[in-house]
Amino acid sequence: MRRISVFGATGSIGQNALDLVARDVDAYDVVALTGGRNIAQLAADARHLRADLAVTCYPECYNELKDLLADTDVEVAAGPDAIAQAAARPVDWALSAIVGAAGLVPGLEALAHGTTLALANKESLVTAGPLLMGRAKAHGATVLPVDSEHSAVFQALVGEHMAAVERVIITASGGAFRDWPIEKLATATLVEASSHPNWDMGQRITIDSASMFNKAMELIETKEFFKVTPDMIEVLVHRESLIHALVGFNDGALMAHVGPPDMRHAIGYALHWPERRALPVERLDLAKIGSLTFEAPDPARYPALAIATRVMEQGGLSGAVFNAAKERALDGFIAGDIGFLDMSEVVSRTLDKMSSGNGLQNAAITLDNVLETDRLARIYAAETFSRLG
Ligand code: NAD
Ligand code: MG
Repeated sequence: MRRISVFGATGSIGQNALDLVARDVDAYDVVALTGGRNIAQLAADARHLRADLAVTCYPECYNELKDLLADTDVEVAAGPDAIAQAAARPVDWALSAIVGAAGLVPGLEALAHGTTLALANKESLVTAGPLLMGRAKAHGATVLPVDSEHSAVFQALVGEHMAAVERVIITASGGAFRDWPIEKLATATLVEASSHPNWDMGQRITIDSASMFNKAMELIETKEFFKVTPDMIEVLVHRESLIHALVGFNDGALMAHVGPPDMRHAIGYALHWPERRALPVERLDLAKIGSLTFEAPDPARYPALAIATRVMEQGGLSGAVFNAAKERALDGFIAGDIGFLDMSEVVSRTLDKMSSGNGLQNAAITLDNVLETDRLARIYAAETFSRLG
């Protein structure tokens, strides 16, 4: 039996992962499941999968979780430290499906114990890529991509040498507003930004898809994970979301990964890696689909992409500023404090402010520096809200 833990088990990725686990329940020994406020879901999954431990990140939810699992052997804990401690429990495979920078510490903890880490939490690579990948290397631990584009690139690279790679192309659906007149974007509402044309995902990543901040993060994620230079990475708008990424080689060949927009493919690939096993996803009928379309992204519509290029070029702690400012701006948009287009303005201004001098570029990427930078960037980002024109 493989021992596994799932961090962020109650979210969209976490639930898709548990769906795969539940189909072959005898193959897994579930150690820890973690979640947030959806205590009923967390308790039900911990009970059904006979987890050793269930953890909510909110201390105020502890009693509710404890009560719901009172008649079971499941241990219960709460708070961010309890999640980090859960990540230190020995397992063969852990999924990091927490949303936001909160995924960083548990991911580092798992890697420090040599755990194979399936990483959906792109924010930890954006915020502290060199720290996370360095931690894996130091402990001989493997990081497997779960983001669909990065899983696609990873699969296209099997049996290849990085020296032969010329470019990596990640695709983008274009998000909820791809056909809106640009002038209308400033008025986009939360409800409008919260629906995705092709994928069913958590609310935050859905809004990030509409603004292209999700793709901006994925550019940085590509650089950090595959250690390619920024000029080798491209974004291609592909409305159908069937080709997830392409890798271009030095002989001119492009290897494309094609599959249905179902995250259980990327999760399942990471779960069974290095094997490939049958997965319950749709089989595409390409003749029925007929045609696939591609467009270059319009920089005026998607300012987030240029910000990502700047972050990749600046390096250092810029990624930590970028991610935290983006998270704070997104909180502001969700709360109705700022408009849709203000999000990229907030992130740009926060980067400007924190990039003056060379401190950001040259500082060491330690956990302390990353957490302090994250904290400051959220404060500066919120300060810009009142100054937006
Ligand atoms: P979600 O909002 O549906 O779920 C997030 C999970 O994290 C929940 O279990 C929640 O309880 C937990 N969580 C939230 N805040 C937390 C905190 N402070 N501490 C600990 N746990 C916390 O999000 P999602 O859409 O499943 O995305 C999860 C991650 O996977 C994100 O990094 C996202 O970018 C990435 N991702 C998601 C998809 C997708 O299809 N949903 C695709 C690619 C990548
Ligand atoms: Mg993705």
